[in-house]
Amino acid sequence: MSEQEMHDCSDVLEQLYAFHDHELSDEEADHIREHLMACEPCLDSFQVEEALRLLIRKSCDSEAVASANLRVRVQTTFTQTVVVTDAD
Ligand SMILES: [Zn+2]
Repeated sequence: MSEQEMHDCSDVLEQLYAFHDHELSDEEADHIREHLMACEPCLDSFQVEEALRLLIRKSCDSEAVASANLRVRVQTTFTQTVVVTDAD
């Protein structure tokens, strides 16, 4: 397995937000996923992002509660992923 097979870590981290937002193509998302499986530091960052999103989701259980300001900030990371259930 060559280093070329692995995405550059900074590249992956940069795309993490887009990955959370499902803004990547299937191919790109696959690369990110593969990298996360093989790279612990990146996986850590990924999980931190997820934990953060879950926390935010928990602390404002209805959209009406979230201020517009917060929503704008959260928008980049807040999305439905495998981990986030759509519980009301
Ligand atoms: Zn990495």
